[in-house]
Amino acid sequence: MRINIKYSKRQPSTHAREGKMADKAQRPILKGLVMAATVIVALALLLAAALRWRENGWGALVWLAAFVATFAIRTPHAKRNRANIVVDARKGLDEILLLAAMFLAMMVLPLLHLVVGGFGFADYSLPDWATAIGALAQPAYLWLFWRSHADLGRNWSPGLEVRDGHQLVAKGIYARIRHPMYAAIWISALAQPLLIHNWIAGFLVVPAFAAMWFLRVPNEEALMRGRFGDAWDEYCARTGRLFPKRAR
Ligand code: SAH
Repeated sequence: MRINIKYSKRQPSTHAREGKMADKAQRPILKGLVMAATVIVALALLLAAALRWRENGWGALVWLAAFVATFAIRTPHAKRNRANIVVDARKGLDEILLLAAMFLAMMVLPLLHLVVGGFGFADYSLPDWATAIGALAQPAYLWLFWRSHADLGRNWSPGLEVRDGHQLVAKGIYARIRHPMYAAIWISALAQPLLIHNWIAGFLVVPAFAAMWFLRVPNEEALMRGRFGDAWDEYCARTGRLFPKRAR
């Protein structure tokens, strides 16, 4: 009987409805295919960029290694936090433009330049010691980037968001500074023009991140103050934004 009812309920299903169900069944396969294609394209681009190291300079190889490490650090956090329920967010046009500018200046333009050498007209040259400073900055960048993701845990999001059950993190590296992830990105942004000797593919990230820093941080701190009130103010009183506060 039950089967009948179920069956009769499915009777009115139109082609569109059946199409939708088929769509649903195909979604994981499609998702898998898109993922596989993305990984293959990314690996091909990285290989193509690495093979052009003589044209791009050895600093570009260091940049590529850090680029891969950045993804390795962030991807597990991004995957896990996708399940977060967002209860508050700041998604203004400024935020969208800043994220897009960073995506371009920190990923797309450098990779494009290293693969096809499109911005050769904007190249500059630097002595090896300058490139070496950029290379030496990478372990500091990656350590801070890893540590801040580990300490923020479920409370990290790429955009400005408050999740259901959001907690104020004031432990680990956050016990000393409020913006260790941005400190890490500052190091990476300042090192990029030392590793990729090009005004567009290397240097452009510096003004892009400066804009992000000056426009986003006050919004982020206001969001945190709105969520945590006095606890946030007390936390601010004992921590610096990028550098630890000196004990008085
Ligand atoms: N500005 C921080 C975090 C960047 S990730 C840093 O540089 O390390 C951005 C998200 O982290 C924000 O949307 C906010 O929800 C969250 N966040 C920032 N500081 C936090 C803190 N101390 N505790 C919990 N969440 C925080």
